[in-house]
Amino acid sequence: MEKKIHLVARQPQKPKLLRVVGYARVSSGKEAMLHSLAAQVDYYQNLICNTPGWQYCGVFSDEAFTGTKEERPGFQKLLEKCRNHEVDIIITKSISRFARNTVTLLETVRELKLLGVDVFFEKENLHSTSGDGELMLSILASFAQEESKSVSDNMKWRIQTNFKEGMPWNATLLGYRYDNGVLMVVPTEAEVVRFIFESYLDGAGTQKIANELNAKGKITRKGCTWHKSSVMKILCNYTYTGNLILQTTYLSDHITKKPCKNNGELPKYHVEDAHEPIISMEQYLAVQAEINRRTEQYQRCNGQKTIYPFTGKLVCESCGKHYQRKKTATGYVWICSTFNREGKSACPSRQIPEKVLEQLSADVLKTVEFDVEQLEKQIEYIDICQDCTVKFHICDGRVETRTWQIRSRAESWTHEMREEARRKSCRKSQ
Ligand SMILES: [Zn+2]
Repeated sequence: MEKKIHLVARQPQKPKLLRVVGYARVSSGKEAMLHSLAAQVDYYQNLICNTPGWQYCGVFSDEAFTGTKEERPGFQKLLEKCRNHEVDIIITKSISRFARNTVTLLETVRELKLLGVDVFFEKENLHSTSGDGELMLSILASFAQEESKSVSDNMKWRIQTNFKEGMPWNATLLGYRYDNGVLMVVPTEAEVVRFIFESYLDGAGTQKIANELNAKGKITRKGCTWHKSSVMKILCNYTYTGNLILQTTYLSDHITKKPCKNNGELPKYHVEDAHEPIISMEQYLAVQAEINRRTEQYQRCNGQKTIYPFTGKLVCESCGKHYQRKKTATGYVWICSTFNREGKSACPSRQIPEKVLEQLSADVLKTVEFDVEQLEKQIEYIDICQDCTVKFHICDGRVETRTWQIRSRAESWTHEMREEARRKSCRKSQ
């Protein structure tokens, strides 16, 4: 039997209507709100009903508060409707109307996208699910950063307000604890602060003070051992006088949060008698004067190099650098600067006593005693060799060589004996 095949005419498919809702935020104040709400409901109703393929599913609205905490019952209802898959499109006036907080907005838009709900922002002419939507999200992300900046600005503002009220915002200071807006003295720590100030005025240096504190088992406010720099920080801290200078540092920007020295970019605040002093103003000022005096003295000593008779004349045969004068327990010696700085591994040269240099010079120059003037006149430079020979380069071109003996524990040792000892020690270490 022949199969009859009927072609069934397909019913023209009724296009599925997209379920569209409006979301409005209306200004607060009853009169204005009602007016605004009525106007917006009208507006969305007209827009949705007059768009082919759209089905009007209502308008949700919330009152716009000026405060930061937002409760939006209308918005919550709208979200619930979306989660029940009863909405395809949300129309709203603008990004700022949809959510005040960009982070919330991003989260919401992403959730809605997963639910298949498109958000259309009229002002920006953007569909969250369109190709532009992704771009919009990235733009919104940059808005989010701007918002974080304004939050940071608020923080700065709050800190500045604290400063204006005479309160430090970061009080990790040895000797004090920040309690209810006031710095309170911690007696055991205050003792350490006084010890530092008194020792310094008694002539001790910062390194010596640090060593003494460490020997006593004292630690810094941050729980570290003491160093020159941490002692100096205590000595320079004006807070110990009971007064405050606030905002000496500030945070540069909201992303790196790097503290910067305030060189007048922001106002500084001086607060007198802000808290109980640990150090008297007189003692503090005396310490500051002493710090300046020692700094100047140090700079004078280092800025002006003393010239000795052999300065710039002695050349290290091993590395070619000049020799330096150095004080030792047995008197002055001259030592290769490389050896002095970096040790024997950098230069195997030998140090030579100043007395020996003077004797050899007198011998070469044929003077009864060491004669600085003749040395200056006749000797161009002097090579100091490893094997205890010294080569005098005389201005007329001659070179005179002299040898000397190391006078210490091995005063009577000959060159051969030393060589033998060296060989033995080499064998031992191999
Ligand atoms: Zn050298």
